[in-house]
Amino acid sequence: AWALDAVGLGEHRDRSPHRLSGGEKQRVAIAAMLAMRPQVLVLDEPTANLDPAGKSSVFNVLLRLARERQVAIVIATQEIERAARYADRIVVLHEGRVARDGPPAAVFAAAAQLMEWGLSVPEMVELAARLAGPIPAFAGMGRAYSTLRRALRGRRDIARPPAPRAAAPEPAPSADKPQIVIENLAFAYPDGAAALRGVDLAVSRGEFLALVGPNGSGKTTLAKHLNGLLKPTDGRVLVDGRDTRRLRVAELAQTVGYVFQNPDHQIFASTVEEEIAFGLRLQGLAAEQTAERVAAAVAQFRLADQRDLPPAVLGGGERRLVALAAVMATQPQILILDEPTGGLDRRGHQELMDAVGAYHRAGHTVILIAHDMRLVAEHATRAVVMLDGRVLFDGAPVELFARRDVLRRARLAAPPVVRLAQRLERAGLPRGIVSIDQFAAAWASGAGAAP
Ligand code: ADP
Ligand code: MG
Repeated sequence: AWALDAVGLGEHRDRSPHRLSGGEKQRVAIAAMLAMRPQVLVLDEPTANLDPAGKSSVFNVLLRLARERQVAIVIATQEIERAARYADRIVVLHEGRVARDGPPAAVFAAAAQLMEWGLSVPEMVELAARLAGPIPAFAGMGRAYSTLRRALRGRRDIARPPAPRAAAPEPAPSADKPQIVIENLAFAYPDGAAALRGVDLAVSRGEFLALVGPNGSGKTTLAKHLNGLLKPTDGRVLVDGRDTRRLRVAELAQTVGYVFQNPDHQIFASTVEEEIAFGLRLQGLAAEQTAERVAAAVAQFRLADQRDLPPAVLGGGERRLVALAAVMATQPQILILDEPTGGLDRRGHQELMDAVGAYHRAGHTVILIAHDMRLVAEHATRAVVMLDGRVLFDGAPVELFARRDVLRRARLAAPPVVRLAQRLERAGLPRGIVSIDQFAAAWASGAGAAP
């Protein structure tokens, strides 16, 4: 009872854990450890697969345990924004050694070094490094806002700079009919749960569409309809004009590549190399071509040292890259990535998004399911928000970030740099900034050029 209360689940004590949300499940796991009254609680990436609200609920519980119950919390995490906000102390491990150790402000003072090591730093820290000067190296949002607003006021004489380049790369959808058409799609799982309740969506070739929304809103269920793993209970799904009900998964796999939310649900071969080769052989590729594509994929995702290892012995982030490499090697027309970045560090993130970006620029369609709004802002041409099995919003990321009502209902938040830019619009910063790059460009073009 004490442990359940400590994690805020006292009222759920009689419920089946399987029916709880992701954030709640994670808190059950924490309670199970707490019940033994440890003095130290160690957590390894406990929030990697949770939506933003779930992540916050876990971090808030940990903070309370530390403050009120004197439990020492040690958390291994890639959640850098939250680590900076919640932790008293940050230890950076680099190549097996303690490379930095101190309070967040001290650790992030070495932002450039951390980024070079492939780690992420909070957006405000990265922004400060990019603007080089106007804001302190470790500023919270409030501090960054007041300093930059003052700088903008001081430059009132300067004409407003031109609006920055359009948000993400220009969409290049072709004029002909959509590649994917979803009509009034409804789906209920065998046990009766209605997961999709009338979804209409058309996707053109060459779009980079982000599918976002809370855990349980139907994102994965929708994605599985595109590669035929699930068939509609009602309505229909057309891929290249063909009804998925009349296609086998193997046929659709030629067109639609799907990287599972959990890589362990798709990885099965005995070595990394085998894993990547499997789909290629299935497509009937000759041995020579197969070997070439495997070699290219291994190089692209830096898996050379791992190629003869069983995927099971690799770390979570590495297994994710293997799953991605295996799907991308088959060169599908449509690539669906289901929360691909959970547990990846900044370098893993970058490698993944570089590969996906190149693939998109080659004219392919990308559907990215993500909780990371920074990823959405920097890459997607279109954002679709799901809630309770329905489409709540469909538009450009920059439009989404301006819709407080939608963000609140879907429990999403615009990235810190976007929130900062929105607050600074009244002081003269151009509208529509969605990334650190754009912020820095607008600043350099006159808005806050150093006096
Ligand atoms: P998301 O990917 O957005 O987190 P899902 O598509 O996985 O959401 O789930 C949508 C809804 O369907 C949720 O209510 C979830 O509990 C339910 N659901 C998902 N998978 C199954 C399943 N295999 N059996 C029964 N219900 C499921
Ligand atoms: Mg999902």
